[in-house]
Amino acid sequence: MDILLKQLKNKKQINIAEFMELVVPYYYQNNIAIGADGDFITAPEISQLFGEMIAIWIANHCITKSIYEINLIEMGPGRGTLMYDILHTLHSLSATKDIVKGVYLLESSKKLRKIQAEKLQDFKNINWIDDLAEVSNQNHPNIVIANEFFDCLPIRQFVKTKHGLHEIFIDFESDTPCFALKKTKQKLSLTLEEGEVYEICEDYKLYSDAITSLLKGSNSAGLIIDYGYVDRPIKGTLQALKKHKHHDILSDIGSCDLTALVNFSKLEELFKASAVNTKLHLQGGFLKAYGISERAHLLGSKVGRDFQVDVKRLTDEDQMGNLFKVLEIFA
Ligand code: SAH
Repeated sequence: MDILLKQLKNKKQINIAEFMELVVPYYYQNNIAIGADGDFITAPEISQLFGEMIAIWIANHCITKSIYEINLIEMGPGRGTLMYDILHTLHSLSATKDIVKGVYLLESSKKLRKIQAEKLQDFKNINWIDDLAEVSNQNHPNIVIANEFFDCLPIRQFVKTKHGLHEIFIDFESDTPCFALKKTKQKLSLTLEEGEVYEICEDYKLYSDAITSLLKGSNSAGLIIDYGYVDRPIKGTLQALKKHKHHDILSDIGSCDLTALVNFSKLEELFKASAVNTKLHLQGGFLKAYGISERAHLLGSKVGRDFQVDVKRLTDEDQMGNLFKVLEIFA
């Protein structure tokens, strides 16, 4: 039997967070996750315009604050495409040509670290880290970027039934894994209606604290981009994706991407509680404010391809424009 399934069966019954903790790293290590040949596609893989707009945001921040040296930190860099496009763009602008002094990539998958190293081979001072606390050289402001990182973090799910509050578990004792409910005394910050599911992610605090420490130096800033919500949905948001289609969560365990929508209200609340300033945008509005349409037009006439399809995919309300949010954080 596959090592992962054996490990899960030994656990007998685990909650969704423990399930994600075991499955997500295994998945990234053993599958071609991202890209047309993989299970899902991300904004930087759709178009270079995405990374270019993030670079313009960084350049704008640095010019406004008169910053001449930065560390760039990326959480979950995937295939390295976003960092490549950011570095390429910053190098091409006279104001930011030599601004990046160190790049730090927080990546748990050895397989992806190798792909990132190949993609970024032309750039200097690229470092891989297992923990944000490893970012050295605190003489420069830190710029932290995370695209589709927070959706991978383990969540717990609670549901209210007519018999009270329960946590959702997965039972591996029977032949095929199935969901199971366990009565719980867990205190939630709100009262659920019968049938409502509520999700919490205990790792948000861990990562928001670690990011906050990196932002302490003056003029540091960050962007957290992901699919997520501000108003709590009443259903669970855990989903599995395989070959760009929704898949049953408990079939083909370890070979499907497993994510949950990000609770941006909670993330904002955590940062605000640590005195970090925040601004939340819809991805569509954010990219348009930084000039994605104009850039698509210019690039299109230069290389003879229509980039407006990319713009539509990244910014249209019914595509990625509204579901994806951008949380700006400032020290
Ligand atoms: N940002 C990329 C990839 C998103 S996929 C893009 O936009 O294309 C999620 C990424 O986060 C992968 O690189 C995955 O290996 C990494 N990852 C997931 N959980 C992680 C964790 N706990 N620690 C470090 N990296 C993690």
